[in-house]
Amino acid sequence: MELPKIGYGTYLMDSAASELGVKNALEAGYRHIDTAQGYENEAGVGAGMKASGVDRGEVFVTTKLWPGGKWGQRALTYEEVVEAGEKSLKELDCGYLDLYLIHTPFAFASGKEAGLDQWRGCLALKKRGIARQVGVSNFNQAHLSAIYEARMEMPLYNQLEIHPCCQQRQLLAFMEERGVKAIAYSSLAPLGSWREGQDSGKDRMGKERTEIVGSTLKKIAGEMDATEPQVLLRWALEKGYPILPKSTNVGRMKLNLRVGEMGELGKENMELLDALGGGGEGTGVEDVCLAWAFGDPAAAS
Ligand code: NAP
Repeated sequence: MELPKIGYGTYLMDSAASELGVKNALEAGYRHIDTAQGYENEAGVGAGMKASGVDRGEVFVTTKLWPGGKWGQRALTYEEVVEAGEKSLKELDCGYLDLYLIHTPFAFASGKEAGLDQWRGCLALKKRGIARQVGVSNFNQAHLSAIYEARMEMPLYNQLEIHPCCQQRQLLAFMEERGVKAIAYSSLAPLGSWREGQDSGKDRMGKERTEIVGSTLKKIAGEMDATEPQVLLRWALEKGYPILPKSTNVGRMKLNLRVGEMGELGKENMELLDALGGGGEGTGVEDVCLAWAFGDPAAAS
């Protein structure tokens, strides 16, 4: 099954919330569900899939390995990666995984071989049919190069924080050369209301930049007769990135899904959004990662 353009994220949802959220999302028409071992909600996601009554073959399921290697945890070995993939599938109870990702490159902090060993474990899970496709998340150019130089099969996807304030231009250009596709997470992070009262690194934006971003989004949303979240999701889709908006609210869930039917933002509005980050010529504004409270997970290994 091909990866759907608009998926449903489940971060910061406990097992009960994700069971209801996934059931509602599938009923609303979502066909890609993104979870992770680290979200501790895989069983809820699996229960939500069953409760929706939607055929397993119509749903694309992504989950992620928690690799260890940071915060006092030992990096998982090859065998432990295989066991973790099997355990995730057992929790989800959905027959097979469509996509299995290494959540972060933290194992590389214990040495290149430790990082490559985890990737070998993922490839073994693919060979055994536990996962149909395998990939990574939060890997930078050095991590991907290590895999390439080891002449191993390259990851099909790298799931990354991507939005106008975090455009990852250099990394995306490198990935294109190596045939690694991007999946965008935290597309709504530039919103002032994003993850209100929850764990994030949104303070890193600073007051002045938050105001500039807010007024640009407001202007474009007004012109388009759309909402500011829809403008951000539309920007990602027009760049060609699959997205994973998460919402516990059914109305917002449906609004996010309808972004595919919205009119095009147009060249001028795309340029205004591009100028909110990227560090490119004419912007002078560096990318800022907001999703992880402690900073950029790629830089930590
Ligand atoms: P997101 O989906 O960009 O934004 C979620 C936040 O926006 C929530 O606070 C949600 O609140 C709110 N929201 C959603 N739709 C809205 C709308 N139409 N209007 C106003 N507010 C809206 O952020 P995310 O959860 O960080 O990222 C999406 C998914 O990507 C995650 O759930 C997870 O599956 C994945 N992810 C992966 C990584 C990784 O390291 N690989 C990191 C972060 C995220 P309500 O629930 O109240 O609507």
